[in-house]
Amino acid sequence: MPVFDSRSFRDHEQVVFCSDAETGLKAIIAVHSTALGPAGGGIRFWDYAAAHRHVAPGDIAESRGEQDAIYDVLRLSRGMSYKNAMAGLRLGGGKSVIIGNPKEIGTPDLMRAFGRHVDRLSGTYYAAEDVGTSPEMLAAAGESTQYVSGLETGEFGTGDPSPHTALGVFVSIQSAVKHRLGKDSLSGVHVAVQGVGHVGLYLVEHLLKAGAKVTITDIVASNIEAARSKGDVTVVDPVTIHAVDCDVFAPCALGGGLNPKTIPHINASVIAGAANNQLEREGVQDEELRKRSILYAPDYVVNAGGIISVEAEVHREKVSDAEREAKVVRIGNTLAKIFEASDREGRPTGVIANEMAEDIIAKASQKQK
Ligand code: NAD
Repeated sequence: MPVFDSRSFRDHEQVVFCSDAETGLKAIIAVHSTALGPAGGGIRFWDYAAAHRHVAPGDIAESRGEQDAIYDVLRLSRGMSYKNAMAGLRLGGGKSVIIGNPKEIGTPDLMRAFGRHVDRLSGTYYAAEDVGTSPEMLAAAGESTQYVSGLETGEFGTGDPSPHTALGVFVSIQSAVKHRLGKDSLSGVHVAVQGVGHVGLYLVEHLLKAGAKVTITDIVASNIEAARSKGDVTVVDPVTIHAVDCDVFAPCALGGGLNPKTIPHINASVIAGAANNQLEREGVQDEELRKRSILYAPDYVVNAGGIISVEAEVHREKVSDAEREAKVVRIGNTLAKIFEASDREGRPTGVIANEMAEDIIAKASQKQK
Protein backbone atom coordinates (compact mmCIF):
# COMPACT_ATOMS: atom_id res chain seq x y z
CA MET A 1 0.00 0.00 0.00
CA PRO A 2 2.01 3.01 -1.18
CA VAL A 3 2.49 6.11 0.96
CA PHE A 4 5.50 7.80 -0.63
CA ASP A 5 4.11 6.91 -4.07
CA SER A 6 0.55 7.95 -3.25
CA ARG A 7 -0.69 10.67 -5.60
CA SER A 8 -1.45 12.86 -2.58
CA PHE A 9 2.04 12.52 -1.02
CA ARG A 10 3.90 15.86 -1.19
CA ASP A 11 7.00 15.67 0.99
CA HIS A 12 5.06 15.11 4.20
CA GLU A 13 7.37 15.33 7.21
CA GLN A 14 5.88 12.40 9.12
CA VAL A 15 3.16 9.78 8.69
CA VAL A 16 2.32 7.67 11.74
CA PHE A 17 0.20 4.50 11.74
CA CYS A 18 -1.43 3.87 15.11
CA SER A 19 -3.36 0.95 16.54
CA ASP A 20 -4.78 -0.35 19.80
CA ALA A 21 -5.93 -3.98 19.90
CA GLU A 22 -8.16 -3.58 22.94
CA THR A 23 -10.38 -0.83 21.49
CA GLY A 24 -10.00 -1.66 17.78
CA LEU A 25 -8.31 1.66 17.04
CA LYS A 26 -6.76 1.98 13.58
CA ALA A 27 -5.60 5.48 12.80
CA ILE A 28 -3.14 7.46 10.71
CA ILE A 29 -1.67 10.81 11.72
CA ALA A 30 -0.04 12.83 8.92
CA VAL A 31 2.15 15.83 9.60
CA HIS A 32 2.62 17.66 6.32
CA SER A 33 4.64 20.62 7.53
CA THR A 34 5.79 22.18 10.80
CA ALA A 35 7.61 25.06 9.09
CA LEU A 36 5.17 27.62 10.50
CA GLY A 37 4.50 25.94 13.86
CA PRO A 38 2.95 22.80 15.36
CA ALA A 39 0.83 20.95 12.79
CA GLY A 40 -2.84 21.70 13.50
CA GLY A 41 -5.70 19.73 11.99
CA GLY A 42 -8.80 17.75 12.82
CA ILE A 43 -9.50 14.07 13.46
CA ARG A 44 -11.67 12.58 10.70
CA PHE A 45 -13.47 9.42 11.88
CA TRP A 46 -14.79 7.62 8.80
CA ASP A 47 -15.71 4.12 7.64
CA TYR A 48 -13.52 4.18 4.53
CA ALA A 49 -14.31 0.58 3.54
CA ALA A 50 -18.09 1.17 3.44
CA ALA A 51 -18.02 2.47 -0.16
CA HIS A 52 -16.22 -0.71 -1.29
CA ARG A 53 -18.18 -3.40 0.62
CA HIS A 54 -20.98 -3.75 -1.92
CA VAL A 55 -18.53 -4.31 -4.81
CA ALA A 56 -15.71 -6.29 -3.21
CA PRO A 57 -15.30 -9.17 -0.74
CA GLY A 58 -14.46 -8.34 2.90
CA ASP A 59 -10.67 -8.18 3.03
CA ILE A 60 -10.36 -6.46 -0.37
CA ALA A 61 -12.93 -3.84 0.67
CA GLU A 62 -10.99 -3.21 3.91
CA SER A 63 -7.71 -2.91 2.02
CA ARG A 64 -9.21 -0.44 -0.50
CA GLY A 65 -10.68 1.49 2.41
CA GLU A 66 -7.24 1.72 3.99
CA GLN A 67 -5.84 3.03 0.72
CA ASP A 68 -8.54 5.72 0.66
CA ALA A 69 -7.70 6.62 4.26
CA ILE A 70 -4.02 7.12 3.36
CA TYR A 71 -4.98 9.25 0.37
CA ASP A 72 -7.36 11.30 2.51
CA VAL A 73 -4.99 11.97 5.39
CA LEU A 74 -2.15 13.00 3.06
CA ARG A 75 -4.41 15.30 1.03
CA LEU A 76 -6.16 16.84 4.03
CA SER A 77 -2.95 17.45 6.00
CA ARG A 78 -1.41 19.31 3.07
CA GLY A 79 -4.64 21.31 2.78
CA MET A 80 -4.24 22.31 6.43
CA SER A 81 -0.70 23.56 5.77
CA TYR A 82 -2.05 25.76 2.98
CA LYS A 83 -5.04 26.97 5.00
CA ASN A 84 -2.94 27.87 8.04
CA ALA A 85 -0.28 29.56 5.92
CA MET A 86 -2.83 31.70 4.06
CA ALA A 87 -4.51 32.67 7.34
CA GLY A 88 -1.15 33.97 8.61
CA LEU A 89 -1.11 31.52 11.52
CA ARG A 90 1.80 30.14 13.52
CA LEU A 91 0.56 26.65 12.71
CA GLY A 92 1.76 23.98 10.34
CA GLY A 93 -0.51 21.44 8.67
CA GLY A 94 -1.56 18.04 9.92
CA LYS A 95 -4.58 15.77 9.99
CA SER A 96 -5.54 12.40 11.39
CA VAL A 97 -8.01 9.76 10.31
CA ILE A 98 -9.54 7.04 12.47
CA ILE A 99 -10.73 4.15 10.32
CA GLY A 100 -14.19 2.76 11.12
CA ASN A 101 -17.75 3.80 11.86
CA PRO A 102 -17.69 6.25 14.78
CA LYS A 103 -21.20 5.16 15.82
CA GLU A 104 -20.02 1.55 16.16
CA ILE A 105 -16.51 1.88 17.58
CA GLY A 106 -16.11 5.51 18.67
CA THR A 107 -15.96 4.82 22.42
CA PRO A 108 -14.27 7.08 24.99
CA ASP A 109 -11.69 4.28 25.51
CA LEU A 110 -10.81 4.29 21.80
CA MET A 111 -10.46 8.09 21.84
CA ARG A 112 -8.24 7.88 24.93
CA ALA A 113 -6.07 5.31 23.09
CA PHE A 114 -5.89 7.68 20.12
CA GLY A 115 -4.95 10.51 22.50
CA ARG A 116 -2.00 8.44 23.78
CA HIS A 117 -0.68 8.19 20.21
CA VAL A 118 -1.06 11.94 19.73
CA ASP A 119 0.78 12.45 23.03
CA ARG A 120 3.76 10.45 21.78
CA LEU A 121 4.28 13.08 19.07
CA SER A 122 5.03 15.56 21.89
CA GLY A 123 3.22 18.52 20.36
CA THR A 124 4.27 18.07 16.73
CA TYR A 125 0.57 17.54 15.97
CA TYR A 126 -2.44 19.18 17.64
CA ALA A 127 -5.74 17.35 17.09
CA ALA A 128 -9.12 19.07 16.70
CA GLU A 129 -12.70 18.15 15.77
CA ASP A 130 -13.61 17.15 12.23
CA VAL A 131 -16.16 14.99 10.39
CA GLY A 132 -17.17 12.05 12.62
CA THR A 133 -15.77 13.43 15.86
CA SER A 134 -17.72 15.35 18.52
CA PRO A 135 -16.72 17.67 21.38
CA GLU A 136 -17.23 14.73 23.77
CA MET A 137 -14.88 12.51 21.73
CA LEU A 138 -12.29 15.27 21.63
CA ALA A 139 -12.58 15.67 25.40
CA ALA A 140 -11.98 11.90 25.84
CA ALA A 141 -8.81 12.11 23.67
CA GLY A 142 -7.83 15.12 25.78
CA GLU A 143 -7.75 12.91 28.88
CA SER A 144 -4.61 11.25 27.45
CA THR A 145 -2.89 14.26 25.93
CA GLN A 146 -2.66 18.01 26.21
CA TYR A 147 -2.24 18.23 22.43
CA VAL A 148 -5.88 18.72 21.50
CA SER A 149 -7.48 22.03 20.56
CA GLY A 150 -10.98 23.36 20.01
CA LEU A 151 -12.07 22.12 23.44
CA GLU A 152 -15.26 23.57 24.91
CA THR A 153 -13.84 23.89 28.39
CA GLY A 154 -10.50 24.65 30.06
CA GLU A 155 -8.45 27.80 30.53
CA PHE A 156 -7.72 28.28 26.83
CA GLY A 157 -10.74 26.43 25.37
CA THR A 158 -12.23 28.31 22.40
CA GLY A 159 -15.38 26.21 21.94
CA ASP A 160 -17.49 26.06 18.79
CA PRO A 161 -15.49 27.44 15.82
CA SER A 162 -18.59 27.85 13.62
CA PRO A 163 -19.41 31.52 14.42
CA HIS A 164 -15.82 32.47 13.50
CA THR A 165 -15.98 30.40 10.33
CA ALA A 166 -19.26 32.10 9.40
CA LEU A 167 -17.76 35.56 9.96
CA GLY A 168 -14.89 34.56 7.65
CA VAL A 169 -17.36 33.47 4.96
CA PHE A 170 -19.28 36.73 5.36
CA VAL A 171 -16.17 38.94 4.89
CA SER A 172 -15.14 36.72 1.96
CA ILE A 173 -18.49 37.40 0.29
CA GLN A 174 -18.02 41.13 0.92
CA SER A 175 -14.52 41.02 -0.60
CA ALA A 176 -15.62 39.03 -3.67
CA VAL A 177 -18.70 41.20 -4.24
CA LYS A 178 -16.55 44.33 -4.09
CA HIS A 179 -14.07 42.83 -6.56
CA ARG A 180 -16.53 41.39 -9.05
CA LEU A 181 -19.58 43.63 -8.72
CA GLY A 182 -17.88 46.82 -7.48
CA LYS A 183 -20.25 47.06 -4.51
CA ASP A 184 -19.14 48.17 -1.03
CA SER A 185 -22.34 46.94 0.59
CA LEU A 186 -24.27 43.67 0.51
CA SER A 187 -27.56 45.51 0.70
CA GLY A 188 -29.79 44.04 -2.00
CA VAL A 189 -27.15 41.51 -3.07
CA HIS A 190 -28.75 38.09 -3.58
CA VAL A 191 -26.94 35.20 -1.84
CA ALA A 192 -27.93 31.51 -2.17
CA VAL A 193 -26.76 29.49 0.84
CA GLN A 194 -26.46 25.72 0.38
CA GLY A 195 -26.73 24.14 3.83
CA VAL A 196 -27.84 26.03 6.93
CA GLY A 197 -26.09 23.96 9.59
CA HIS A 198 -23.64 25.31 12.14
CA VAL A 199 -21.87 27.71 9.78
CA GLY A 200 -24.69 28.38 7.30
CA LEU A 201 -27.11 29.53 9.96
CA TYR A 202 -24.69 32.10 11.43
CA LEU A 203 -23.95 33.22 7.87
CA VAL A 204 -27.65 33.77 7.16
CA GLU A 205 -27.84 36.02 10.24
CA HIS A 206 -24.89 38.14 9.03
CA LEU A 207 -26.37 38.39 5.54
CA LEU A 208 -29.84 39.42 6.72
CA LYS A 209 -28.32 42.03 9.02
CA ALA A 210 -26.36 43.42 6.03
CA GLY A 211 -29.60 43.74 4.01
CA ALA A 212 -28.82 40.93 1.56
CA LYS A 213 -31.56 38.99 -0.20
CA VAL A 214 -31.17 35.41 1.04
CA THR A 215 -32.19 32.10 -0.54
CA ILE A 216 -31.47 28.90 1.35
CA THR A 217 -31.76 25.17 1.15
CA ASP A 218 -31.07 22.19 3.40
CA ILE A 219 -31.99 18.51 3.55
CA VAL A 220 -33.03 18.76 7.20
CA ALA A 221 -36.42 20.42 7.79
CA SER A 222 -35.59 21.66 11.31
CA ASN A 223 -32.50 23.47 9.99
CA ILE A 224 -34.66 25.23 7.39
CA GLU A 225 -37.07 26.27 10.14
CA ALA A 226 -34.16 27.61 12.22
CA ALA A 227 -33.05 29.74 9.24
CA ARG A 228 -36.62 30.94 8.63
CA SER A 229 -36.79 32.10 12.24
CA LYS A 230 -33.91 34.53 11.55
CA GLY A 231 -35.86 36.62 9.02
CA ASP A 232 -37.11 36.80 5.46
CA VAL A 233 -35.51 33.94 3.52
CA THR A 234 -36.65 32.14 0.37
CA VAL A 235 -36.40 28.34 0.48
CA VAL A 236 -35.61 26.22 -2.58
CA ASP A 237 -35.14 22.53 -3.25
CA PRO A 238 -31.60 21.19 -2.53
CA VAL A 239 -31.20 20.01 -6.13
CA THR A 240 -31.71 23.50 -7.58
CA ILE A 241 -29.74 25.73 -5.19
CA HIS A 242 -26.61 25.94 -7.39
CA ALA A 243 -28.75 27.13 -10.32
CA VAL A 244 -30.52 29.97 -8.47
CA ASP A 245 -30.35 33.24 -10.39
CA CYS A 246 -28.35 35.19 -7.80
CA ASP A 247 -25.17 37.19 -7.23
CA VAL A 248 -23.41 34.84 -4.81
CA PHE A 249 -23.54 31.07 -4.37
CA ALA A 250 -22.34 30.05 -0.88
CA PRO A 251 -21.77 26.27 -0.57
CA CYS A 252 -21.95 25.51 3.17
CA ALA A 253 -22.86 21.81 3.06
CA LEU A 254 -20.55 19.12 1.67
CA GLY A 255 -17.53 19.13 -0.63
CA GLY A 256 -17.39 18.29 -4.34
CA GLY A 257 -20.36 20.54 -5.22
CA LEU A 258 -18.51 22.32 -8.02
CA ASN A 259 -18.30 19.69 -10.74
CA PRO A 260 -19.07 19.22 -14.45
CA LYS A 261 -22.76 18.56 -13.65
CA THR A 262 -23.31 21.74 -11.62
CA ILE A 263 -20.96 24.34 -13.13
CA PRO A 264 -22.84 24.81 -16.45
CA HIS A 265 -25.99 25.70 -14.46
CA ILE A 266 -24.45 28.18 -12.02
CA ASN A 267 -25.89 31.65 -12.53
CA ALA A 268 -24.02 33.45 -9.74
CA SER A 269 -21.14 35.88 -10.37
CA VAL A 270 -19.35 34.84 -7.19
CA ILE A 271 -18.83 31.55 -5.31
CA ALA A 272 -17.76 31.85 -1.68
CA GLY A 273 -18.74 29.35 1.00
CA ALA A 274 -17.56 27.32 3.99
CA ALA A 275 -17.61 23.80 2.56
CA ASN A 276 -14.23 22.06 2.30
CA ASN A 277 -12.99 20.76 -1.07
CA GLN A 278 -15.71 22.39 -3.15
CA LEU A 279 -13.92 21.77 -6.44
CA GLU A 280 -14.16 18.20 -7.64
CA ARG A 281 -10.71 18.68 -9.17
CA GLU A 282 -8.40 21.54 -8.18
CA GLY A 283 -7.02 23.50 -11.13
CA VAL A 284 -9.73 22.14 -13.44
CA GLN A 285 -13.05 23.47 -12.15
CA ASP A 286 -11.58 26.75 -10.92
CA GLU A 287 -10.27 27.31 -14.46
CA GLU A 288 -13.72 26.47 -15.88
CA LEU A 289 -15.28 28.97 -13.48
CA ARG A 290 -12.71 31.63 -14.43
CA LYS A 291 -13.52 31.10 -18.10
CA ARG A 292 -17.19 31.58 -17.30
CA SER A 293 -16.32 34.83 -15.44
CA ILE A 294 -17.48 33.37 -12.14
CA LEU A 295 -15.23 34.52 -9.32
CA TYR A 296 -14.34 31.54 -7.13
CA ALA A 297 -13.04 32.35 -3.64
CA PRO A 298 -10.77 29.40 -2.68
CA ASP A 299 -12.57 27.42 0.02
CA TYR A 300 -9.68 26.95 2.42
CA VAL A 301 -9.00 30.68 2.48
CA VAL A 302 -12.70 31.47 3.02
CA ASN A 303 -13.29 28.94 5.81
CA ALA A 304 -10.17 29.62 7.93
CA GLY A 305 -12.12 31.50 10.63
CA GLY A 306 -12.48 28.34 12.73
CA ILE A 307 -8.78 27.50 12.78
CA ILE A 308 -7.94 31.16 13.41
CA SER A 309 -10.03 30.94 16.57
CA VAL A 310 -8.10 27.83 17.64
CA GLU A 311 -4.55 29.16 17.09
CA ALA A 312 -4.30 30.92 20.44
CA GLU A 313 -5.43 27.77 22.22
CA VAL A 314 -2.59 25.77 20.68
CA HIS A 315 -0.10 28.40 21.78
CA ARG A 316 -1.73 28.65 25.23
CA GLU A 317 -2.38 32.36 24.80
CA LYS A 318 -5.26 34.48 25.98
CA VAL A 319 -6.68 36.45 23.05
CA SER A 320 -9.64 38.81 23.20
CA ASP A 321 -12.65 38.28 20.96
CA ALA A 322 -11.83 41.55 19.22
CA GLU A 323 -8.27 40.41 18.36
CA ARG A 324 -9.56 37.12 17.04
CA GLU A 325 -12.26 38.84 15.03
CA ALA A 326 -9.73 41.25 13.51
CA LYS A 327 -7.68 38.29 12.28
CA VAL A 328 -10.76 36.65 10.75
CA VAL A 329 -11.71 39.89 8.99
CA ARG A 330 -8.26 39.94 7.32
CA ILE A 331 -9.40 36.95 5.23
CA GLY A 332 -11.11 39.56 3.02
CA ASN A 333 -7.77 41.29 2.30
CA THR A 334 -6.04 37.99 1.52
CA LEU A 335 -8.78 37.16 -0.97
CA ALA A 336 -8.49 40.57 -2.61
CA LYS A 337 -4.80 39.82 -3.32
CA ILE A 338 -5.70 36.41 -4.80
CA PHE A 339 -8.42 37.94 -7.01
CA GLU A 340 -6.07 40.66 -8.27
CA ALA A 341 -3.29 38.16 -9.07
CA SER A 342 -5.79 35.90 -10.87
CA ASP A 343 -7.01 38.80 -13.03
CA ARG A 344 -3.48 40.02 -13.71
CA GLU A 345 -2.09 36.60 -14.64
CA GLY A 346 -5.20 35.09 -16.22
CA ARG A 347 -4.95 32.00 -14.02
CA PRO A 348 -7.47 30.36 -11.67
CA THR A 349 -7.83 31.62 -8.11
CA GLY A 350 -7.31 28.13 -6.62
CA VAL A 351 -3.93 27.75 -8.32
CA ILE A 352 -2.87 31.27 -7.27
CA ALA A 353 -3.81 30.56 -3.62
CA ASN A 354 -1.88 27.26 -3.61
CA GLU A 355 1.22 28.98 -4.97
CA MET A 356 0.99 31.77 -2.40
CA ALA A 357 0.67 29.19 0.40
CA GLU A 358 3.60 27.12 -0.92
CA ASP A 359 5.71 30.27 -1.06
CA ILE A 360 4.92 31.17 2.58
CA ILE A 361 5.76 27.61 3.72
CA ALA A 362 8.97 27.43 1.66
CA LYS A 363 10.22 30.74 3.11
CA ALA A 364 9.48 29.55 6.66
CA SER A 365 11.28 26.23 5.96
CA GLN A 366 14.34 28.12 4.74
CA LYS A 367 14.41 30.13 7.98
CA GLN A 368 14.31 26.89 10.00
CA LYS A 369 17.46 25.56 8.31
P1 NAD B 1 -23.10 21.06 9.47
O1 NAD B 1 -23.13 19.59 9.30
O2 NAD B 1 -23.51 21.66 10.75
O3 NAD B 1 -23.95 21.76 8.32
C1 NAD B 1 -24.06 21.27 7.03
C2 NAD B 1 -25.51 21.45 6.61
O4 NAD B 1 -25.63 21.08 5.24
C3 NAD B 1 -26.49 20.60 7.41
O5 NAD B 1 -27.56 21.41 7.86
C4 NAD B 1 -26.94 19.55 6.40
O6 NAD B 1 -28.25 19.11 6.64
C5 NAD B 1 -26.83 20.31 5.11
N1 NAD B 1 -26.71 19.49 3.91
C6 NAD B 1 -26.05 18.31 3.76
N2 NAD B 1 -26.17 17.88 2.49
C7 NAD B 1 -26.90 18.80 1.83
C8 NAD B 1 -27.35 18.93 0.51
N3 NAD B 1 -27.08 18.00 -0.42
N4 NAD B 1 -28.05 20.02 0.17
C9 NAD B 1 -28.34 20.97 1.09
N5 NAD B 1 -27.95 20.91 2.38
C10 NAD B 1 -27.23 19.83 2.75
O7 NAD B 1 -21.59 21.49 9.09
P2 NAD B 1 -20.93 22.90 9.36
O8 NAD B 1 -20.11 22.80 10.60
O9 NAD B 1 -21.93 23.98 9.23
O10 NAD B 1 -19.91 22.96 8.15
C11 NAD B 1 -20.36 23.20 6.83
C12 NAD B 1 -19.22 23.00 5.86
O11 NAD B 1 -18.15 23.86 6.20
C13 NAD B 1 -18.61 21.58 5.88
O12 NAD B 1 -18.19 21.25 4.61
C14 NAD B 1 -17.42 21.74 6.81
O13 NAD B 1 -16.42 20.78 6.53
C15 NAD B 1 -16.95 23.14 6.46
N6 NAD B 1 -16.22 23.80 7.53
C16 NAD B 1 -16.81 24.02 8.73
C17 NAD B 1 -16.10 24.67 9.74
C18 NAD B 1 -16.74 24.94 11.08
O14 NAD B 1 -16.21 25.79 11.82
N7 NAD B 1 -17.84 24.30 11.42
C19 NAD B 1 -14.79 25.10 9.52
C20 NAD B 1 -14.22 24.89 8.26
C21 NAD B 1 -14.95 24.23 7.28
